[in-house]
Amino acid sequence: MNSTPVSRPTTGSDPLIVPRTEHGIQRRQVSTNALKVIERLQEAGFDAYLVGGCIRDLLLETRPKDFDVATNATPEEIRELFRNARLIGRRFRLAHVRFGREIIEVATFRGGGDGDGDDDDADRVVEDGGRVTRDNVFGTEAEDARRRDFTINALMYDPATETIRDHVDGYADVRQRRLRLIGEPVSRYREDPVRLLRAARFMVKLDLAMEPQTAGPIVSMAPLLEGIPPSRLFDEILKLFLSGHAWPTYQALVRLALWPELFPGLFPDPAQPPKLVENALKNTDQRIAEGLPVTPGFLFAAFLWQRVKARADELVAAGAAPVEALAEAGEEAIVAQARKVALHRRFSTIAKEIWCMQPRFEKRRGKRAVRLINERRFRAAYDFLLLRVDEEPELAELAQWWTDVQEVDHEERMKMIHSAPAGGGGKKRRRRPRKRKTPSAQ
Ligand code: ATP
Ligand code: MG
Repeated sequence: MNSTPVSRPTTGSDPLIVPRTEHGIQRRQVSTNALKVIERLQEAGFDAYLVGGCIRDLLLETRPKDFDVATNATPEEIRELFRNARLIGRRFRLAHVRFGREIIEVATFRGGGDGDGDDDDADRVVEDGGRVTRDNVFGTEAEDARRRDFTINALMYDPATETIRDHVDGYADVRQRRLRLIGEPVSRYREDPVRLLRAARFMVKLDLAMEPQTAGPIVSMAPLLEGIPPSRLFDEILKLFLSGHAWPTYQALVRLALWPELFPGLFPDPAQPPKLVENALKNTDQRIAEGLPVTPGFLFAAFLWQRVKARADELVAAGAAPVEALAEAGEEAIVAQARKVALHRRFSTIAKEIWCMQPRFEKRRGKRAVRLINERRFRAAYDFLLLRVDEEPELAELAQWWTDVQEVDHEERMKMIHSAPAGGGGKKRRRRPRKRKTPSAQ
């Protein structure tokens, strides 16, 4: 930070203007398509700025995910200016301007607390439960800044003058790496309790200190998440756990009493989650760091495993076959969990496949093993088996065998499969109690 003066607002709605010499953002760091959109709007006489997370990210030297534009042009006026614009959104219409694979989101300034500041809820039906919300209304630039959640998310950038426009003292907060809600925290959380989760997420992901008034009410207000539709919570869960900081985010959610609102009653002591869960979260972060694909199905499989396994063991004790028992227990766990966080079917299917393949690893001999290796979800189920070893050390030898069998050539693999121990997977199925650990407390 240097000492170049910044101009102070003269009236209540004038922003603090931060010049380029101070903020250091270069135009070339900004998507050229976003620049084109802003230029065209400004040439047509409108105000238009980059807004939100992208400026924050540029200042924090992380790579913005997308570049959003805010303007005083109405959605119709935007559409008239851009042939490649499409209006979306039910409650609040905004324009998507498409350039090949990149979409620039252009939103008209809006005012008022709308209870859900998320702009991209095009096909989400938000039921507002008991929350008091006002209708979306167009607003001024200053109002648009103030209806946002955190000060660091409310900065605007004008490429024409290369200045940052700051209505909420967000610039100083970014520089001091401080997370602060705009306005009065208790009412801002009440207006939209998802902000509780967003606070935890930004704090961890951007390594920010939460300002005390922003942090203070979180624990006591956590129960307000009760009123949020499960589908919206699921969208939020994806951002919480699939952004490369899943494990520290989990810990923050526990500390802030938010975790039990999302996944009630899963672990006796959420501060000491099952090792498998910790490993799954860390594993997810590592895969993201390595650019490998991740699926929420795998994480949910880990979160719910203890519950699923305990219930499946009961069903097996009552005479059910292991795979069917897991299928039934899995379905029950997913249905129960969906009351809080709705896991999309394609992901719950993955979780169930992972669970149901676990007993099949015990049958290594012959065709069954070959069939298992060729299953679409083999790799995920095998990764899951590896995660189980920490808590079920008796699986170590089995897991090693499955590691080896994937590494050898075809001929060697056939040899291994034919000489493998029967492992309960011989020709005829014997129904005898399986040698399984009783579910431990964690
Ligand atoms: P990320 O990089 O994680 O996407 P982001 O800041 O872009 O972070 P989005 O969820 O994409 O977050 O939202 C875009 C902008 O919309 C935010 O920067 C913020 O200004 C505003 N916003 C989003 N959600 C809310 C909310 N619940 N309440 C108020 N404003 C919100
Ligand atoms: Mg975003």
